[in-house]
Amino acid sequence: MVKQRVIALVDCDSFFVSCEQKRDSSLKSKPVCVISNKEGCVISRSKEAKQMGIRMGEPLFMAKKEHPKGIYIVADHEYYAYVSNLVMSVLKDFSPYVQIYSVDEAFVDFTGLKRLYKKNYYTLALYLRQKILDEVDIPVSIGVSSTKTLAKLASDKAKHFKNGIYLIGQRKIIKELKNTKIEEIWGIGRRLTVALRRSGVLTAEELVAKSDEWLDKLIGIHGIEMRHELLGNMVSPVINEEKPPKSIQNTRAFCLFTSDFNYIKNELNKHIHTSCRKLRSYNTKCRQIGVMLRTKDFRVFYTKKELLAPVDFELEISKIAMDLLEDIYDPTVLYRSTGVVLERIGEEGIEQLSLYSDSQTIEKNKNLTNCFDKLEAKFGKNIVQTGFTRKK
Ligand SMILES: [Mg+2]
Repeated sequence: MVKQRVIALVDCDSFFVSCEQKRDSSLKSKPVCVISNKEGCVISRSKEAKQMGIRMGEPLFMAKKEHPKGIYIVADHEYYAYVSNLVMSVLKDFSPYVQIYSVDEAFVDFTGLKRLYKKNYYTLALYLRQKILDEVDIPVSIGVSSTKTLAKLASDKAKHFKNGIYLIGQRKIIKELKNTKIEEIWGIGRRLTVALRRSGVLTAEELVAKSDEWLDKLIGIHGIEMRHELLGNMVSPVINEEKPPKSIQNTRAFCLFTSDFNYIKNELNKHIHTSCRKLRSYNTKCRQIGVMLRTKDFRVFYTKKELLAPVDFELEISKIAMDLLEDIYDPTVLYRSTGVVLERIGEEGIEQLSLYSDSQTIEKNKNLTNCFDKLEAKFGKNIVQTGFTRKK
């Protein structure tokens, strides 16, 4: 018999609004809505906005007219992706098996963690929820059960509980299925709901009572999988399927054409900072660093360096990149942009030979980098920057 797994779905509450409230705490407990763009519609609402009667998808001009007291903020997806990363990092610290499902949802395999953390699964979920709240200031709901489909169901129910946790244990499954309409099941859309209703299947309980053959005919293999997952037999495991990208690059045009070396260096450093943050989020290193300079008349100068040992420490990458920049920089030329490319990501290399290779320095570097991430989690992106002054 296959050992039962314990799977959690962690789902951020009103994620976009929660991000805005994290950025500006004066927005907490207020009727806040995030809108898709300046003349768009409502795509996320705080609890207070929901209570006020503001509807999801309502066009801004209507919402403003009907609910002038509402606070309407234009979506900043770059910031939300950044916050999402912070939440996911907490999850990855917590369990080795995390599958990111969307910007605000992830499956986490809890199996075995009970012993590690010396907590039962319910208190474990409470603990994780509090940890995300303390470290990232984002509220989440957590559903816990033995399969992804049941965990998803549990997380929807968790939203109705003050502590944001809902557990569906083996013995509770049948009772839960009785109370679950088919349209509430993960993976059942509008069309399938209609087809199932037409066949007299209205609840999850009625669905699992059907035979595999019957479900195969109506839905296909996915229908059989759904039935087994609803009965608590895992079909779809939690997999870390997120692979780091092949390369990470960042570039942006300057405000003005310039040949000021310090200015270019500082701009390049900002891109290095952004790239390294991404590199760290995948917990990996790179073995090649490239630097690009684009002139006013669009000529591109690019140079790169291959490294013996993979690196992830920002100041080390920065030092190499600055040397490369110096190689291609010409003080008589006006430039329009610069950029960095980190390549050969995740490749093994010869450890050692690194600039900072003794264990004490490595530990120091690690602490410093953690510090960057923590400060940014608290005060926002790019609050920490390394800067340059250059001796003439
Ligand atoms: Mg959500």
